[in-house]
Amino acid sequence: MNGKELVKLALDLGFSDAALMDTEDLVFLPNFRTLCEENMCGKYGVNYACPPDCGTVEEMRRKVLHWRQALVMQTMWDIADPLDNGEIKPAKAQHNKMTRQLIDRAGGQGLMIGVSGCSLCDPCAITTGEPCRFPELQYSCMSAYCIFVNKMAEHCHMDHKCVPGITTFFSMYCFDEREDG
Ligand code: SF4
Repeated sequence: MNGKELVKLALDLGFSDAALMDTEDLVFLPNFRTLCEENMCGKYGVNYACPPDCGTVEEMRRKVLHWRQALVMQTMWDIADPLDNGEIKPAKAQHNKMTRQLIDRAGGQGLMIGVSGCSLCDPCAITTGEPCRFPELQYSCMSAYCIFVNKMAEHCHMDHKCVPGITTFFSMYCFDEREDG
């Protein structure tokens, strides 16, 4: 499936917008790692796909650059309070489900970057010292990769709004493997 077909598939699946970009145009800000350490999402240290267990900032950057292209996918939600977890959580789960559907239909080769850290198991197997239950399906979020989402959205000509009434989520499918990667 080529890039144009992937964009069409994303729109058909219900994403509000989708666009392609070169992974080399992504901006990685290592300082974002301190935001993860503040643990506002509660997943720091208790999820294989989140810092510090997901890998160093440089390892995460290299994981992304292993692929040449990224399909950026956006959903927009009518959520009155962007801090209301009761509404935010199911919206994120739906966005991640759609992202996985797209990757499955695209053939499954590539890297998924989700909205929020992996929530395939509750709790993550790391909390009981077991290995990851779905290593092929687990995904890290944009923050874990230190991706500057505002710049990414700007590059894709997409709005990045989180205000009362409009909450925007992004995910990514990195594909087109580098031969030397
Ligand atoms: S698949 Fe399950 S065990 Fe693996 S990182 Fe995700 S939540 Fe944790």
